[in-house]
Amino acid sequence: MTSFIDSLVPQAVKKLIPYQSARRIGGDGRVWLNANELESTLFEAEPSYNRYPDFLPQDIAKAYQRYCATEAPTIAVRGADEAIDLLIRAFCKPDQDKILICSPTYAMYEFCADALAIETLDSPLQEDFSLNVADIVKKAELANIVFLCSPNNPTGNVIPKSDLTQVLERTVGKSLVVVDEAYIEFEPQTSAVSLIERYPHLVVIRTLSKAFGLAAVRCGFILASPNVMQYVSKLIPPYPMPDCSSQIVLEALSNERVAVMKQATAKLVEIRNQFAAELMQFDFIEHVYPSSTNFILLRQKSGHELFSVLMKDGIVTRNQNHEPALRNCVRISIGSQESMLEVITSLTRYQTELGQNQQSQHKETQPQLDKNHI
Ligand SMILES: *Cc1c(COP(=O)(O)O)cnc(C)c1O
Repeated sequence: MTSFIDSLVPQAVKKLIPYQSARRIGGDGRVWLNANELESTLFEAEPSYNRYPDFLPQDIAKAYQRYCATEAPTIAVRGADEAIDLLIRAFCKPDQDKILICSPTYAMYEFCADALAIETLDSPLQEDFSLNVADIVKKAELANIVFLCSPNNPTGNVIPKSDLTQVLERTVGKSLVVVDEAYIEFEPQTSAVSLIERYPHLVVIRTLSKAFGLAAVRCGFILASPNVMQYVSKLIPPYPMPDCSSQIVLEALSNERVAVMKQATAKLVEIRNQFAAELMQFDFIEHVYPSSTNFILLRQKSGHELFSVLMKDGIVTRNQNHEPALRNCVRISIGSQESMLEVITSLTRYQTELGQNQQSQHKETQPQLDKNHI
């Protein structure tokens, strides 16, 4: 039975026969001379790295399914960024098809689309950063993939399940719906993974770069129905995951390490909430947005440049001013308690300076008044 999902796939992708790696063709060999590898290692490491990677991604995918308590087909990729690229390539024809994003959101959806000659449509978030469901549903007619991000970067909020199911119900037969859950560990009960069974056009992408703290390892995941996955797998390169990453990932997904991650996440949430409360005390901050992530988005009152204020003290944050919907906004990642204290100290110093300037302006006017008196 073909579904609308099949109809999204470019012919070139449908025709692809996945690349056969030397290892898979090799069978039960004894002496392996078929992949132009060096037979013995020159590099002291245990285990050695002279052979192409084993088919470890399957082991990783199994470990990740266990972590998610799901049976949904899962593949490991090199970061969520590769997941975005693979999905666009598998379901959009260059110079013809479109994706839909809900700005402000993660920049890679549009970047990958641009790189592949796919047009990006936008259904901007509403003022409270919620989805405009009716508009999304309308524009989804024109798009092959709708990219949603929950919790969203850089706004920090979660898409309520009722909004997500509405989008899913009303995009059947129109487009895939990809939910980027890079920050899901900070609000795990809101995950869409359990909806994949009911909605075969739903795709979830994940990463170990955020809560798991493994950004340098480059590991992400795609979870989706078998129908979606058959096309994505065609595009997966033969040895996607370096052995050194695989080893670390398998360890990170052990029960013991997952427990460590959960504990660290709880601690980070505590630091975040305290930091947010402290930010609200400053007069020059107009709004501190609620966050379901490991960052805080704030809006400064106009006339203040907190990004530059912090930079002068060597603290690097993300200026969001370029986004029309995020004028005067700064995004601050949550680090250690010490680092957040540094931010607060820097802003307190700025506030004191502002106060002194006001006072000195006041003083300058005093003598004039006195003169007038005389
Ligand atoms: C950080 C981030 C990613 C990238 O994850 P990698 O696995 O490091 O490629 C993807 N999506 C969102 C929303 C992110 O914030």
